[in-house]
Amino acid sequence: MTPPSPNPTNVPRPFLGVNFAACRVYGRLYKNREGTAYVGRCPRCGKLVQVPIGAHGTAQRFFIVDCGS
Ligand SMILES: [Zn+2]
Repeated sequence: MTPPSPNPTNVPRPFLGVNFAACRVYGRLYKNREGTAYVGRCPRCGKLVQVPIGAHGTAQRFFIVDCGS
């Protein structure tokens, strides 16, 4: 049985600051549960974007993502 509460030993969810290129707004992507990518939505158009976390992790601190269609 796995309790629904989050693991208290986990650090707070890391996030990545990104610039949504098409809308030219700043937002945050949060690490997914698997730790394989940062995912989030553009605050303006609501499009879901992902930044995959590579083998070396995300050394970059700031990303530009394209939320345009
Ligand atoms: Zn957008």
